[in-house]
Amino acid sequence: MSFLPICFSMLASIAIAQDNPSPYRVHDIDRPKPPIVTPNRISAPVLAPSDAIVLFEGDDLSQWKSGNKPAKWIVKNGYMESVPGAGYLRTAESFGDVQLHVEWAAPVPVKGKSQGRGNSGIFLMGKYEVQVLDSYKNDTYADGQAASIYGQAPPLVNASLPPGEWQTYDIVFRRPRFDGDQLVSPAELTVFHNGVLAQEHKKLWGPTAWLKHDPYEPHAAEKPITIQDHGNPVRYRNIWVRKLADKVDHTRAKRITSDVKWTEEQVNAVTGKYGKYKIRSDEGSLKLDWENRSFDLIPVSDSRLEFATTSAHIDVECKEGEPCKITVDLMGSRSSATRDK
Ligand code: MG
Repeated sequence: MSFLPICFSMLASIAIAQDNPSPYRVHDIDRPKPPIVTPNRISAPVLAPSDAIVLFEGDDLSQWKSGNKPAKWIVKNGYMESVPGAGYLRTAESFGDVQLHVEWAAPVPVKGKSQGRGNSGIFLMGKYEVQVLDSYKNDTYADGQAASIYGQAPPLVNASLPPGEWQTYDIVFRRPRFDGDQLVSPAELTVFHNGVLAQEHKKLWGPTAWLKHDPYEPHAAEKPITIQDHGNPVRYRNIWVRKLADKVDHTRAKRITSDVKWTEEQVNAVTGKYGKYKIRSDEGSLKLDWENRSFDLIPVSDSRLEFATTSAHIDVECKEGEPCKITVDLMGSRSSATRDK
């Protein structure tokens, strides 16, 4: 009877090509620990910018639920505190790509060790955990300490402050993209811990998990953010999130194209020096030399040359029997020059 469900769950998983697997196993105790960096303390809550959605301001849990029920974490003195057994919190709203600011404090007095000390976690889309742990003088496996991507990637540094002190996470999260049941691009995390870079554009191999390596499964483009109840009274305050537009990867500027071709006569008429500017022909294409730079020029009419990749153009005025005059327009700032004699 149990055979069929197992088969279906295997079918639902996506086998991703692991062309560059980690040299470490999950929670590898021999994995090097990141260097300790002492951060500066934050002097006040880092307040939300105007386009942020404030998820917790210190006085109520209206933006949060436990499953489909009201959240049952303690709210007092401007913070909320995980109540052991009260369950994970989840945002009422769903999110995909985000910038997320979280302030948290590990419990005092200190109790427990390793993963049992100040454990919580921020789960983007409820699936991808940035670990919250009291990692101040608390040894644990590298991929499970504060600011790790749990079970996958240790932080670049251990920038932990002592328990009881407010710490910050600034997280940039890009959700995984799916096309049907195929993974198009993995989830990606950048994390600053107390202002120190802890994860840099780290690609995730799938949802984070304890002891194991789970593959991606297609899911919605927006899902709630969750905060872990791991049985430790970790505190949170001042949580805000900004939804991010789709990432656009431009690696170079747009280049102008044109069907206009200048005659040899037009090219010869315009080439020459104009004070600080020089227009020259290079194997049939026009270039402007200026300020030790060279710009490709594209004719777009009988009297205008556009800069190929810069928001600028040159208007050319040639009258019979007179040297040509150019007006260079750089982003709306214009200067004219007459061709040197
Ligand atoms: Mg955790």
